[in-house]
Amino acid sequence: MNHPDVVVIGGGPAGSTVSTLLAQQGLKVELFERERFPRFHIGESLIPETYWVLKRLGMLEKMQKSHFVKKYSVQFVNASGRLSAPFYFWDNKPHECSQTWQVVRSEFDKMLLENARDHGVSAHEGVRVMDVIFEADPSTPPGAGRAVGVKIKEADGTLREVRAKVVVDASGQNGLISNRFRLRVWDPILNKGAIWTYWEGAYRDTGRDEGATMVLQTPDKQGWFWYIPQHDNIVSVGVVGPFDYLFKNRESFEKTYDEEVERCVAVKERIKDATRATGYFATKDYSYRANRVSGDGWVLVGDAWGFLDPLYSSGVLLALKSGELAAESIVEGLKNGDTSGAQLGKWGPGFNEGVDRMRRLVCEYYAGFSFGNFMRQHPEMRGTVTDLLIGDLFNDRVDKVWAPMESMYPDNKHLIPRWDAGVPVDKAPEKANELFLPADLRPGV
Ligand SMILES: Cc1cc2nc3c(=O)[nH]c(=O)nc-3n(C[C@H](O)[C@H](O)[C@H](O)COP(=O)(O)OP(=O)(O)OC[C@H]3O[C@@H](n4cnc5c(N)ncnc54)[C@H](O)[C@@H]3O)c2cc1C
Repeated sequence: MNHPDVVVIGGGPAGSTVSTLLAQQGLKVELFERERFPRFHIGESLIPETYWVLKRLGMLEKMQKSHFVKKYSVQFVNASGRLSAPFYFWDNKPHECSQTWQVVRSEFDKMLLENARDHGVSAHEGVRVMDVIFEADPSTPPGAGRAVGVKIKEADGTLREVRAKVVVDASGQNGLISNRFRLRVWDPILNKGAIWTYWEGAYRDTGRDEGATMVLQTPDKQGWFWYIPQHDNIVSVGVVGPFDYLFKNRESFEKTYDEEVERCVAVKERIKDATRATGYFATKDYSYRANRVSGDGWVLVGDAWGFLDPLYSSGVLLALKSGELAAESIVEGLKNGDTSGAQLGKWGPGFNEGVDRMRRLVCEYYAGFSFGNFMRQHPEMRGTVTDLLIGDLFNDRVDKVWAPMESMYPDNKHLIPRWDAGVPVDKAPEKANELFLPADLRPGV
């Protein structure tokens, strides 16, 4: 039988990464993506630690030759409009990895998928995975099952089964396996929404600051704007805020967005001479994680495993990194004839810890912690904060930052609840992440 070793559901950054790395090790991989690329996706600002995975994927040269805007720093504007000094990644780590990119995801994701094909992955577009096939296995407890393949619907509507030794769920927020086993836990505090659009001719800095991501706090400190300069003179500008505030008792996405821009002078100034290039996009983006990363014969990667608030642009890094770690566990497992959940998900605890570090930084920002004051009082911590901002999350060296931060807490500061203190999906059926696209997308996006 000509079965693949591994089937991958979804051709976003996580799916392309895991498949490419598996194919590099000589494994036979089939990837199924329901859309045809290029397709729109949000998540446009990369952070420097993506460099190492992009390098393993053989993507660096392609990125360097691309027209994506180069990003050297991130800069914050506080609620009173005060601009922080930029966090230049190079100053912290003088290495090529300290320059990253602002991408247009339709183009970036297509490049990653084509790169997977170049490495031998058999990637099918326009093919939806309808279900994962589970079968009882003598080695698993009664009632449990092992993933043995997927049911797919081909572009012409034909239904077919594809068997494999391992199934990787990289289906993004759709979370095929997570939904089936009700694994998702909604974050107890990161319940946000976002509305965004694209501007042509908006303000751009020059030189190495041209491609900086700006994070601009709204005056009431309830939320923030992202300001991401892209190629073709486009800037992506989005507002993130508490879900109830942005979406309940408001008239329309367009009106809410315009009202929020009106309140935030720093954004208003930057787009005052620009022309809007598309309609308005919106998403309910509640953060969540799955309460397990794997089971027998299956493993979750990227947003199919978890999604963290976009404040520090960590999503694509987490997709790439989880794809890389899952690929390593799969290769080792297949070599030793062990595709148990324990083997496929052995990277899960360390990964969760890394994501916890970024989550803590996100929660501190929303809780009003002043990183500006912190830098002034603890300049020796600037490098460690920058390490976290670049995505260097997976070692405990950076944990030295927490004690000095805690020393600045006010007496009445509440402890940040852990992610798993949130609501399991069963108990909050009304919560669902949804994306609203405008009718007028730019061509090719
Ligand atoms: C408002 C917002 C702003 C963000 N900003 C940033 C940012 O600046 N930087 C950053 O790094 N990240 C950002 N992110 C996060 C980023 O978008 C995601 O973390 C990232 O796209 C995850 O990649 P993925 O491969 O896991 O999932 P995806 O990119 O979503 O890919 C999943 C793929 O699976 C396919 N699929 C789904 N179901 C099926 C099925 N049944 N069969 C076949 N195919 C299927 C989908 O079509 C999709 O192509 C942001 C997210 C939001 C919501």
